[in-house]
Amino acid sequence: MCKSKLRGASIVLDIPLSHNLPEDKVIWVGNKKGNFTIKSAYYIAFNVLETNETGESSKGDPRLPLWRKLWHLKIPAKIRIFAWRACMNALPTKLNLSKRGVNTNVSCPICDEEIETTSHPLISCKYARQVWDNWSENPVNISINNNDILDVAMRIVAEGTTHDLETFFLTTWSIWYIRNQKVFKDSCHLSTQVWNFSRRLSHDFKEASNTFCDKQSLLKEGWSPPPLGMYKVNVDGTTSNDGRPSSIGVIIRNSKGEITAALCMPLSGEYSSLETEAIAVEK
Ligand SMILES: [Zn+2]
Repeated sequence: MCKSKLRGASIVLDIPLSHNLPEDKVIWVGNKKGNFTIKSAYYIAFNVLETNETGESSKGDPRLPLWRKLWHLKIPAKIRIFAWRACMNALPTKLNLSKRGVNTNVSCPICDEEIETTSHPLISCKYARQVWDNWSENPVNISINNNDILDVAMRIVAEGTTHDLETFFLTTWSIWYIRNQKVFKDSCHLSTQVWNFSRRLSHDFKEASNTFCDKQSLLKEGWSPPPLGMYKVNVDGTTSNDGRPSSIGVIIRNSKGEITAALCMPLSGEYSSLETEAIAVEK
């Protein structure tokens, strides 16, 4: 007998039997009562389908390394979503709009020479190529004919760094942004301006993220719990300097940071901030 059959037999033999020895009966394992219901069958079927679909989409999908990297890039969320839509051919380009029944001219609104597919305005349009020429450390050759945005992104994942992929998507988003400015506001920008815009975007986002992290760590470091068996008392007082009475607040926490007592009360008159804090400590 093979090992799995032996293991199965041992599991069956390990099932404890009732002392009353009732008649055997079929039990539905989909819920606690053991009775079959459509609802519980639906949940089981749904979970089986979901597991299978996840398995199939992961198996052999060459885009998987790109998706994994894309959702962790340190770029604004709206640009991560734009990047995913661009790679899935889901941007409202002239060609895509036309395919969905919108009556529009399918020519590229920038060069007016080629059909506006997803990749054309972002990669192969002569205007886009001028923008990409500014990327001196480009790990793959973007500025060649018929480059597909998904192919380029996957090549950067294979041959470049995470920073390269961030630069690529920040720049494609900037090109698309300027393309929209042209379509909806009829404004024109130089290719160097688009490149600088993309770089500034990257710099501003990283600086804002660092400031946020600094504030978070300061908040975390601002208060620490007392040693085991001790209590920490924090007090504060406010004074308005406009004749209204001052007020105080007191909070007592244990070594786990749990609040064991708290007090908030107005005082009978107006005091200086030092006096209010002294009164709070006294209380
Ligand atoms: Zn074009």
